[in-house]
Amino acid sequence: MRIPCPYCGERDAQEFVYRGDAAPVRPAGDDGFEDYVYLRDNIAGPMREHWYHAQGCRNWLTVDRDSCSHAISGARLARGGTA
Ligand SMILES: [Zn+2]
Repeated sequence: MRIPCPYCGERDAQEFVYRGDAAPVRPAGDDGFEDYVYLRDNIAGPMREHWYHAQGCRNWLTVDRDSCSHAISGARLARGGTA
């Protein structure tokens, strides 16, 4: 699998560290914090994920990937902005 990094171009997935689903948002208080940390959906199909380019530019990316086919439809910096 190859991931299109906005800084480095298309790179092999082995250069990246997978963090997981990008959808959960950290709650402001204690309510729901345990669910935020420990509970994840096992999505089959299109999802947004966080990947860290550890052996490249060391940026966090948000990647749109189909978890069944591994097809990547887009990638951008997780902090926003452009490369
Ligand atoms: Zn990169």
